[in-house]
Amino acid sequence: MLTLQQVYDRFPTDRSCQHCLNQSLWPKGIFCAHCNQTLIHWYPSKNCFYCNHCRRYFRPRQTTLFHRTRIPLQKWFWLIAVYHHSKNSKRALSTRKIAELLELNKNTVLRMFRCFRRVEAEWVQSFADEICRNVK
Ligand SMILES: [Zn+2]
Repeated sequence: MLTLQQVYDRFPTDRSCQHCLNQSLWPKGIFCAHCNQTLIHWYPSKNCFYCNHCRRYFRPRQTTLFHRTRIPLQKWFWLIAVYHHSKNSKRALSTRKIAELLELNKNTVLRMFRCFRRVEAEWVQSFADEICRNVK
């Protein structure tokens, strides 16, 4: 199974994580959810995108997964990979063990798991595959 260290080795910075995330969300580049134009700016304060063309804000559902998180993206990435692989495995890690490995509170880990259920399952799955592909 993928280790947290492997994720940190492959994605040493938050920026490298963000890059991978954007690639996954928008393989053909970021475009507006309203008008499909590509003159997009990210507004960190609003945690959403602004379209210079139609002047509307939008926020893809998947980005809400990391909405105002204080947990490093590397930890999210690792958890996504583990979550995906443990679904069909009998040797799944317990929440307590995961919390220990991530050096997070057990309730925080449970909250992260709940976040996964709020976004599209297919995306979580494909992103988990992408993380594993990147790390290997
Ligand atoms: Zn637009």
